[in-house]
Amino acid sequence: MKTAVITGISGQDGPYLARLLLEKGYKVIGTVRSYRCTNNKNFEYLGIENRIHLEELDLLDMANVIRIIQKYKPEEIYNLAAQSSVGLSFDQPLGTFSFNTTSVNNLLESIRFFSPNTKLYQASSSEMYGRVEKMPISIDTPMHPVSPYGVSKMASYFMITTYRESYGLFVCNGVLFNHESYLRSNNFFIKKIIRDSIAIKNGKLDKLVVGNLNVKRDFGYAPKYVEAIWKILQYDQADDFIICSGKSISLRDIVEYVFEKLGLDKGLIVENQEFFRPNEIDEIYGDNSKAKEVLGWDYDMSFFQVLDILINEELDNDLHEK
Ligand code: NAP
Repeated sequence: MKTAVITGISGQDGPYLARLLLEKGYKVIGTVRSYRCTNNKNFEYLGIENRIHLEELDLLDMANVIRIIQKYKPEEIYNLAAQSSVGLSFDQPLGTFSFNTTSVNNLLESIRFFSPNTKLYQASSSEMYGRVEKMPISIDTPMHPVSPYGVSKMASYFMITTYRESYGLFVCNGVLFNHESYLRSNNFFIKKIIRDSIAIKNGKLDKLVVGNLNVKRDFGYAPKYVEAIWKILQYDQADDFIICSGKSISLRDIVEYVFEKLGLDKGLIVENQEFFRPNEIDEIYGDNSKAKEVLGWDYDMSFFQVLDILINEELDNDLHEK
């Protein structure tokens, strides 16, 4: 039986990845900042709360990281922990940079000295590319991040490639574009607009206030993206992969689709400059052909299909909560 450690297991991707690894027969260790503050709801939602083993871990403390690696001797570590909100990174630039880079450095050094056969997956992000001249984005596209979050992920991306090339470690970047699911935190755009739109339908909110709806992004479905994450560490060579849908869609088309589905009046959508980001990328989409060809990852969902799943899941759970 293989053992995998998933850092940041309590977020969106962690529970889906844990469920996939359990289905594949892994022993799954999930690390959390503290037991007391961990929200077990996402594990319960997927029915895995009694099948994963949780460990408290401060990723900023290298001795702590070494302790976990020596205790479990994992074949694979999936590093998902991060301050992952682009918006929040403008309010907390130094905290975001500091956590998102030091945590990766501690994992890399601990693996190098104490467990060089452990494979490491690093959750990199399309936000590293930022303002690009050519699309679709591929792994060779020059990076020009435009947020502290993007900069932090770029720094870690290159630490991963440097450790792979310099010390021969099996360490890989999965460069994921936006992906959504029912387990997304409420502060992220897609989850928020679906929840707010349902609240309008239920008479609990009178309008949907949003930021810049002209921007276009490449959105996908989280439970499918975690399959690619797993495949990256199963490939026979350590490498970096772009994981995306390959298409962009405007935030306006998304919001209007949700409103149409719920039978709401589009006049209730209000764009407010206060929610515009200081430095926004107009459009971004990637090229997933390497992941499809090399890893055999299959993905062909349109984002409207994903929205149908998310709206229905949110409505079902809204009914149960009543
Ligand atoms: P998420 O829902 O925000 O989860 C992030 C996880 O990191 C949570 O478990 C969180 O723990 C933990 N974390 C945050 N700050 C921490 C800190 N200071 N110390 C320890 N743990 C901390 O993110 P996700 O959507 O699952 O994404 C997983 C990874 O992929 C992240 O690294 C993210 O940046 C990256 N990524 C995500 C996307 C996307 O569209 N979802 C796209 C590209 C890359 P708490 O629950 O205690 O806060």
